[in-house]
Amino acid sequence: MDCNYLVWVAYSGLGNRILTMASAFLYALLTKRVLLVDGDKGTSDLFCEPFPETSWLLPSKFPIKQFRNFSNGSPESYGNMLKNKAIHSNPAFLYLHLVHDYGDYDKLFFCEDNQNYLRTIPWLILKSDNYFVPSLFLIPAYQEELTRLFPQRDSVFHHLGRYLFHPSNVVWGMITRYYDSYLARADERLGIQIRVFDHEPGPFQHVLDQVLACTLKENLLPETNSQQPIISTRNSRSKAVLITSLNSGYYEKFRNMYWEHPTKNGEIISFHQPSHEEHQSSDKKMHNMKAWAEIYLLSLSDVMVTSAWSTFGYVAQGLSGLKPWLLFKPENRTAPDPPCRQVLSMEPCFHAPPFYDCKTKRGADTGKLVPHVGHCEDMNWGLKLVDQNEW
Ligand code: GDP
Repeated sequence: MDCNYLVWVAYSGLGNRILTMASAFLYALLTKRVLLVDGDKGTSDLFCEPFPETSWLLPSKFPIKQFRNFSNGSPESYGNMLKNKAIHSNPAFLYLHLVHDYGDYDKLFFCEDNQNYLRTIPWLILKSDNYFVPSLFLIPAYQEELTRLFPQRDSVFHHLGRYLFHPSNVVWGMITRYYDSYLARADERLGIQIRVFDHEPGPFQHVLDQVLACTLKENLLPETNSQQPIISTRNSRSKAVLITSLNSGYYEKFRNMYWEHPTKNGEIISFHQPSHEEHQSSDKKMHNMKAWAEIYLLSLSDVMVTSAWSTFGYVAQGLSGLKPWLLFKPENRTAPDPPCRQVLSMEPCFHAPPFYDCKTKRGADTGKLVPHVGHCEDMNWGLKLVDQNEW
């Protein structure tokens, strides 16, 4: 009875889940709640318990049985209660729907007056698929604490992620065996995450062209030479390229290209792709373990290339502490020009932020209110944290 709780519901793909767990943890810290994590979708098999001598897993006897089925239509949701003017007394629990399809009433979560009310509710149940931290930085009541916690605004997920997400022993075994076998001995490691949002599986020529254009233009991969073969020596620099993708086609094309042709600078390039699962199956245990191992392996790169719009890539970038080269999202199956750019900060992008000024009660561009919250490189309506001097 002395504590207030925040229950995190397992929802969406692994990258989304990791970002929402980090967001939920920060919200719990700011509001002095105990975070309890739903172990569904294999979540309990993926991570070590982060808090010593206790468990963050929601007990199986949690009495609100239907909590995983809550959705934007549920009468228990805070947004619907506001909409239906049904907030009369203080209920024991409320459902917070912060999923991409949320409505204007759900978005009032990000206003200070609403936060004052939510503070009185002992149990909050949260479902989200978004990294909603940037909008927490816009709530005046939390700003002082956030400044104390994160004097450097562009490393919020980096610190939260490294504090919370430690691979379970099984996943750690997968990470270390792969790293030691294929990546450890190279002079440099380049990670390339290829995530294609298309209803067909690919591989697509325009994606290959884009990755090649980016890596050559930014000198991440050496040019190949079809005329004069240069013989690599034992002292030549070696680069191990880790490719992650649901599809093995890109990896095969790259590997063949650098097998059939010598590099112009004599560098020895090897390509490695741990899995090609073909389809997202976020409910399967081994599938999630592979995804987590690959996110972590990517984060051990020295240089990284990631795909626009992908939370899988955001997690790898955040854990690594690197500013990757971001592949812009192709439109009409055409490689964009320029193919990529280096991101301004290692922070993930909040894909579905509210555009509302709580003070004036009007629509507003929330990417223009404070210097450290701006728009994302890969999604111009998204919000991300940056250090002030980076714009
Ligand atoms: P997002 O959809 O890119 O934002 O990332 P999510 O992680 O939320 O969802 C995509 C899911 O598809 C992942 O969690 C994996 O289950 C699967 N997936 C996508 N790309 C890869 C990949 O490169 N490797 C593996 N193993 N799984 C992937």
